Order: sequence, then C-alpha cells, then structure tokens
Amino acid sequence: MKTVPLSIEEWQKERIKEEEIMPFLKEGGDFIKEDLIRKAVNKDYKPDKKRLEEILAKALAIETLSLEELSYLMSLKDPQSWARMEEAALAIKRRVYNNRIVTFAPLYLGNFCVNSCLYCGFRKENSQIERKILSRAEIKQESEVLAGEIGHKRLIVVYGEHPQTDLSYIKESIETIYKVKVKTKNGWGQVRRVNVNAPPLNLEELRELKKVGLGTYQVFQETYHHATYKRVHPTGTIKHNYLWRLYTMHRAFKAGIDDVGIGVLFGLYDWRFEVMALLLHARELEKEFGIGPHTVSFPRLEPALNTPFASGSSWQLSDEDFRKVVILIRLSIPYTGMIITAREPKRIREESLKWGITQTDASSRIGIGSYKQGVMRQEEKKQQFILGDERSLDELVGDLADKGIITSFCTAGYRCGRTGKRIMELLRSGQEGIFCKLNAILTFREWIDDFASSSTYQKALLLLEKEREEVRCRYGQYLPLLEEYYRRISRGERDLFF
Ligand code: SF4
Repeated sequence: MKTVPLSIEEWQKERIKEEEIMPFLKEGGDFIKEDLIRKAVNKDYKPDKKRLEEILAKALAIETLSLEELSYLMSLKDPQSWARMEEAALAIKRRVYNNRIVTFAPLYLGNFCVNSCLYCGFRKENSQIERKILSRAEIKQESEVLAGEIGHKRLIVVYGEHPQTDLSYIKESIETIYKVKVKTKNGWGQVRRVNVNAPPLNLEELRELKKVGLGTYQVFQETYHHATYKRVHPTGTIKHNYLWRLYTMHRAFKAGIDDVGIGVLFGLYDWRFEVMALLLHARELEKEFGIGPHTVSFPRLEPALNTPFASGSSWQLSDEDFRKVVILIRLSIPYTGMIITAREPKRIREESLKWGITQTDASSRIGIGSYKQGVMRQEEKKQQFILGDERSLDELVGDLADKGIITSFCTAGYRCGRTGKRIMELLRSGQEGIFCKLNAILTFREWIDDFASSSTYQKALLLLEKEREEVRCRYGQYLPLLEEYYRRISRGERDLFF
C-alpha cells in the first residue's frame, strides 16, 4: 500500500510522544527543581579556606559535586579563591584527559526548521536566510574536503528539525560520511567518528540511530529555566515542549545510546541558574543510568542575521562570568569532556585552555555546503550565527604546539568499547588519560605527515619527541607497542590505536 506523505503540520503533530515522557516524571514533576536552585543561587556563605579545599579535593578525586558544594564555590568573590579554583580545574583536566585537546569540525547538513526559536537565524520565519539541504553527493563532497584536505577525523553533524531532515535523512547522511575515504600525501583520510547534534528523537528512532554507529548524541536544553524556555520557544512549535527535550537523554539511554552530550545556550537566562541546572541534569543521569554526560557544551548567544533577540538579551554573559561558568562546570562534573567552539574569539579560546577545556573545532565553516565551495569568508545568509575565530586547523595545531599542548585526532574510545559505564570508571580513575596520551601521539603523527605546513610540522615533531619521552619515563609498559605503532604510522599505515 502506498504511504501518503504527511504535510509539515501533520508531521509536527506526531513528533511528541507523551507516553515517552510521563514514566520519567517523579511526583508529577521534572528534576529541575527551581526552588532548590534559587535557594542555592542566593545563599550567602562565610568564606572558609578549609571548606574550599575540601570541595576541591572532592573534585580532584573526580567525584561529582553536590548542589550545595557548587553553591559554595559560586558564592566566592575574592580573586585568590578563583585563582585557586582555576588551578584545580586545570589539574582535573590533566588528570582525566592528560595534556591534549581533541579537535573536530562542525558540518551543517540542512537549515530548514519548523521551529521559531527567537535567538536562531534558522527559525522558520526568517525569510532572509538561504535555505538548503545537502544531497548525498554534496555530503560526500563536504566530507572529502574535511577528511582529505583539512584532515579532520571527527565531525559533529548538525540538523534543523524538519521532515526533510528526519531520521532517514540523518541515518543516510551518517552512512555517507563514514564511507568516504580519500588518498592523502602519505596515507588516507577518513572520518572515524560522527557525533550528532539533532532534534530530540523518540525511542524507536534512537534505537535506529544507534545502529549507524553515531559517536556522541548531543541535545542542548538551551535554557533550563522553565518560563524562559517557554518564552524563547514560542507556543505551537515542537520545541515549546520543555519536557520532550529535557528527557531526550533518558530516552537515549533506554534506547542503548550510552554516549550523550548536554549543554546550555548562555545568554538566555541567569548563568548561575543554568550551571546549577546542568549539574542537576548530570546527577540525574548518573542516578538513573550510572552514566553522566560525556560532554558539556556552553555556547554563548551570538549575533545572527535578522535576529534582534540574539543581540539584545539582558542576560548576555560577560567574559569574566564566562570564565566562572567554565571553571565551575569543570569542578562540579569533573569527568566530563568540555567543548569550546569557534563561536568564541581566539583570545577567549586560548585563555580557556587554562580552565579545563578538552575539545575544540578549527577550520570551521557553518554555512551549508561551505567546505566544498572553499568559502573562507562568513556567509550570514547561510549561517545560524557568526563565528568568532576563523583559524585554520593548521594554525590551531601550531598555536597549541607553541604552548606545549598536543592536538589529538583520537576516535578510539567508542571503537574499543570504552563508552558508557566503562568510560566512566576509566575517567574517574584517571586511566583514560593514559590512552588519551598514547592515542594523541599516534593520531598527531598521522595528521602532521598528511596535512601540516612546514612550520607547524617542525613544531609538532619537537612536541612529539617530548611526549614520547614522557611515555618512556612514566608509562614504560606501553612504550614498546607505542614505538612500533609510531614507526608503522610514519611509514604510511593508518588508524593504529590503543
Ligand atoms: S535553534 Fe534549532 S530548533 Fe530552533 S530554530 Fe534554530 S535550528 Fe530550529
């Protein structure tokens, strides 16, 4: 029997499944308890050095903090306490993820959307945006540039919420990306991990999504404050439903996806409230499923074409408060990966390296189809927002190497089964950091041989010598295999990992 295609209105009506929200509610309510958060935000504490050190010791032991502990840290005003917190944040990052920054690129596949989020350039009413959805051939071309010319191994693919980019499109696009394999100078390039930033899916769709081998499944709540959420996501849209979005990760875990990313769009509401809510979300997932978020993202509201709300919010986050946000997330959810993107200007991205960031992007183009077109300038008509840092991957790698930081292209974790509860154990015990170091060395060598400019190459080789020496001194048991893999990669073999 021939299926009659649904109209956009009919499709929208069928998206939200109340029966996939209700079982998660406790006493009829959700886990974002605004009265508790409000009290914690407003509480005054007498500064107490011993209390500060006790809380930092807990964070350094990679234990998730309580709301009360976060509230204490947030209440501190003196620069010395914040300097001490910054120091602890970096120590935690080094303990959990070692001395590396993972890199990735965003790939926007379509900008049609049925929603009307006030802050977004892609909202359906914005007639000034040029709308496009990439075909399978265009996805292949974009991936060939990313994997074969720039050298990315990890992507985050981004979709609007629309019947044309529904689950079947998402699955097909991921499969297309994974099939791309490009000959490079000394080996071959391939995307090895596709993380997905997509609208909330239902249980059945999430089970289907898992089958195509996604990396992290990201859905940001944008704001956890109920009234603000309803206001910026107008009535009559799918996104207006707070609970459908809030319980996406519960559905993902039930569907067998154990690698999820949460986040807030800072600038919609009070940052103190949002940081506390992020912690409550992480604690809820830990309590229900034994696994917290693999990543936390904290984008700030950025200007977008014909979107006055994005420039006029009264909750815009200052640079100083942004620093506090990043440090507090690192301390309170110490095991999590933390992503800063090219939304932020270079200066903030460089400073954030001291606050415990673990992942960042480079050579980013967020216009639809911009990689293949070689578009170097930003095209606001095709973008959701405007980027703050347009450095190439080669420049970023060189800049990080100048600071003694190795760029990692590692995607080994999920391919070796280091996900879910297993990764939580490894992160909390600090063991994952060893794999991070070893795989960073191997993938960095792959990348420089294929893609680095001569000046970046020279810096990178010096850094690799230093890193291998550290393995020799501190993790001697891994040295023979590391050196064997390293030699083989230098001769053109690819994708060897721990
Ligand atoms: S934020 Fe996402 S859901 Fe909202 S209008 Fe933009 S693309 Fe659509």
